[in-house]
Amino acid sequence: MKSEGIEVINLSLGEPDFNTPEAVKEAAKEAIDLNITKYPPIAGFEDLRSAICDKFKNENNLNFQPDQIIVSTGAKQCIANVIFSLIEAEDEVILPAPYWVSYKGQVELAGGKVIELQSDRTQNFKSSAAQLEAAITTKTKLIIFSSPCNPSGSIYTEEELRAWAKVISKHPQVMILSDEIYEYINFMGQHFSIGSIPEISDQVVTVNGVAKGFAMTGWRIGYLGGPKWLASACAKMQGQFTSGANSIAQRAALAAINGGKKLSSPMVKAFEERKKLILELSKLIVNFEVNDPKGAFYIFPDVSYFIGKKFEDTTITSSDHLCEIILENAHVACVGGTSFGAPNNIRISYATSEQNIRTAMLRIKKVLDKVQCSA
Ligand code: PMP
Repeated sequence: MKSEGIEVINLSLGEPDFNTPEAVKEAAKEAIDLNITKYPPIAGFEDLRSAICDKFKNENNLNFQPDQIIVSTGAKQCIANVIFSLIEAEDEVILPAPYWVSYKGQVELAGGKVIELQSDRTQNFKSSAAQLEAAITTKTKLIIFSSPCNPSGSIYTEEELRAWAKVISKHPQVMILSDEIYEYINFMGQHFSIGSIPEISDQVVTVNGVAKGFAMTGWRIGYLGGPKWLASACAKMQGQFTSGANSIAQRAALAAINGGKKLSSPMVKAFEERKKLILELSKLIVNFEVNDPKGAFYIFPDVSYFIGKKFEDTTITSSDHLCEIILENAHVACVGGTSFGAPNNIRISYATSEQNIRTAMLRIKKVLDKVQCSA
């Protein structure tokens, strides 16, 4: 549509619209001038892994040695390394829904079986310890979740994660992958890492990266900290697929991690303002049920009211179909919830300008108001 000259507002992307901080870009330029252009160590540069250990210790109360850290080509590769290291045919992997799409795709590629836990808006899209307990079987190998969550923006509290840990500690064969890539984009205050709970710390691998918090999606650097046996397996996996992550991007990531929250806080403030705006505008749309996400940069409205109703002559068959109708008629791109395991919802990213948010939400309202009238 864009190539036809139609002005589409894209609210489908999972990336900050800000530029990478200047200090980070300088570190990359310096790395080029210093000719840091040879193959880096598979697990990542030693000083970067030490800085990651310090970050994990100081901000997350997680204790790792550098040989427990693996730097990869994005958090996505960290997750793939873990899944392909752990999962064999028929192993069960629990995904509390809504979940990030790649978890499911990667588990299935590895031959594992996805077990989804359902949750909805009334639960703030979070699964309880009781749900987890009921889903664990002798075949369960791994539980994967993100907090703050993509796509819901929900954050698990310390209390909720302690309740999960009680269940998990009874099943020492089960590992947890805690995806904390949105850690800094948190409007609630303190982030809590499930791996800091001593009873289960050996069962947790914590994944993070620089993409979201530092507006560095294109640099492709993520990292994990976990038990040494698992970190070693991930290094073997990575050694065969890609080798060490890009050397220049690793130097940039070191500058970002050392710069810490102060580099990211202006962006986080802007995201919080935009969240307020998009929630206000959402409330103007009747039957568009939105909760208040505590982090990340998405809203995740329940659009089940609209499914089965008509827009002009077309019956809306699913949330994905509703997204198509919104794209074609409002020229706004969002993502249907089916691939996140939440077919009643759509994901709208507010990582864009206030002007874009205003225009897009008014256009969506116009389309959805027409559905109300025809109902
Ligand atoms: N986990 C989640 C929950 C994400 O949303 C994303 C990016 N969309 C990733 C991991 C992957 O991050 P990276 O860009 O570092 O590979």
